[in-house]
Amino acid sequence: MAANKSLLILPGDGIGPEVMVQVRRVVDWFDQRREVTFEVKEGLVGGAAYDAHGTPITDETMEDAMAADAVLFGSVGGPQYDDAPRDLRPEMGLLRLRKDLDLFANLRPALTFDALLDASSLKPEVVEGLDLMIVRESTGGVYFGTPRGIETLEDGQRRGFDTQTYTESEIRRVAGVAFDLARQRRGKVTSVEKANVMESGVLWRQVVSELHEESYSDVDLGHMYADNCAMQLVREPTQFDVIVSDNLFGDILSDCAAMLTGSLGMLPSATLGAPDESGRRRALYEPVHGSAPDIAGKDMANPLACLLSFAMLLRYSFDLEEDASLVENAVQAVLKSGVRTSDIMAPGAARVSTTVMGDSIVRELDKQAA
Ligand code: NAD
Repeated sequence: MAANKSLLILPGDGIGPEVMVQVRRVVDWFDQRREVTFEVKEGLVGGAAYDAHGTPITDETMEDAMAADAVLFGSVGGPQYDDAPRDLRPEMGLLRLRKDLDLFANLRPALTFDALLDASSLKPEVVEGLDLMIVRESTGGVYFGTPRGIETLEDGQRRGFDTQTYTESEIRRVAGVAFDLARQRRGKVTSVEKANVMESGVLWRQVVSELHEESYSDVDLGHMYADNCAMQLVREPTQFDVIVSDNLFGDILSDCAAMLTGSLGMLPSATLGAPDESGRRRALYEPVHGSAPDIAGKDMANPLACLLSFAMLLRYSFDLEEDASLVENAVQAVLKSGVRTSDIMAPGAARVSTTVMGDSIVRELDKQAA
């Protein structure tokens, strides 16, 4: 039977290739055991591509990314590339992917695993059952707005300035992603800005409300000021389902929410673009962590962030809810059994390597599918 989904896998540098080997075992497991079948291509990105081709991503790999239904990315970078020319540095490979695929909505879930509740900086009872999603607009706003710069005033002192700008269409498309996600989840969106002090925030609130009224009145919409949202995230994070915000506030709130769950080795993410004529959204899935040069090559890295990124891929690119849940349930079960990589080690648990964590996940998937 012909494969029905095409995947481009870009392992990258450092621990990227190590964690991806384990994820690839799970991809192959799905290929063999479930209805979905994958046509997988692998490519080089970051330092690996620079070493082989003198560029952090080749045009051929970009073409593969454009053609694929989804891209699964590991991590890039390492101290050996610190002296590479700026436009050839490993992270430029990732930036080009995001830019050329026009990926404007960054999705970061904050999901707690029962077995890791103690890893959160908050009390277990505050984060128990937490399952929220932050949708951050990632190509506009103050990080890209012009004019920007540092100028010297007549009195001789310097003045730094940036510009926060959002067009209606930029707001509509990211809000649309948030509403669509809410329909796949618990049906609630909290839109976050500072309409009390920012004009762009006033427009943000108006446009989100208009879109809601026009096309998403079945979703429950609330508005919240960004400072209050930060406070609510640490006070009662379980009140949220989907949070949508601009580039700046989304950046801060998503890092804050990430720490509610404990470890960098457990955090997946996705970046989505606009749907094409066939309804297919361009999408890239990646763990939040970097290439971790301090532990690379030691079979110590936690592969679960990358594996959970694959679960997001199943859910958000292919609408395979049951398959995504299989992965997430396998992770829950393995953690509950006390199997841990070093970064999430707890007293009384068994410390295992990257490879053994992969073995445990595959064994658990076999058990669940039996
Ligand atoms: P990092 O995320 O690579 O590592 C931070 C710390 O967390 C390290 O101590 C590391 O060992 C640990 N860690 C990270 N992922 C882990 C995992 N899966 N399992 C166990 N421990 C894990 O961040 P950094 O040290 O600031 O950056 C290292 C390199 O990665 C740099 O070159 C940086 O530019 C790059 N980077 C890449 C990305 C990306 O590819 N998206 C993101 C962030 C950083």
